[in-house]
Amino acid sequence: MADPIPLRPRRPCPICGKPSTQKQHPFCSGRCAQIDLHRWLGGSYAIPATVAEEEDQPPA
Ligand SMILES: [Zn+2]
Repeated sequence: MADPIPLRPRRPCPICGKPSTQKQHPFCSGRCAQIDLHRWLGGSYAIPATVAEEEDQPPA
């Protein structure tokens, strides 16, 4: 049985996989948006300590 399909299928947060929010789309929170931003700007090892604790993914 499939669940009803919403008008816009929500994609999960690309950072942590949680459901994204409209406010922070496509992320689930400002924190994840910051993580993504820093990944783009500073490379893979420039993530601030304030968000590093949320890193739950193995190194690529
Ligand atoms: Zn997230």
